[in-house]
Amino acid sequence: MCNLPPKFHSVCRLCLSFCGDNCSDVKLPIFDRDKDKSRLSEMIMAYLSIMVSPEDMLPQVVCGSCASKLDEFHTFRELSHKSERLLEQFLHYANSLSGPIEVCKHNIDKKKV
Ligand SMILES: [Zn+2]
Repeated sequence: MCNLPPKFHSVCRLCLSFCGDNCSDVKLPIFDRDKDKSRLSEMIMAYLSIMVSPEDMLPQVVCGSCASKLDEFHTFRELSHKSERLLEQFLHYANSLSGPIEVCKHNIDKKKV
């Protein structure tokens, strides 16, 4: 622990970026002070499969750039899941009207030309 560089805990946990005191890029804490979990920690674990804990000895901050990437990823995930649900609902609805949908190969072939 004593051998760690002084700025070790100030680098971004995800991309290792570090900027000095004059840097405008704010580092965001991974954990809220009074909670074991936070939105950031949950996204890091869910989307990046990186385990983070308030007790680990690694940096507990991420840079703004990484935080916004996580947000983008989260938004993309929400969109994908919503699309999946809509597609399944549509399929279910179409099936209820006229039986199983048959993919019209004729139209698909036409688009290729
Ligand atoms: Zn970063």
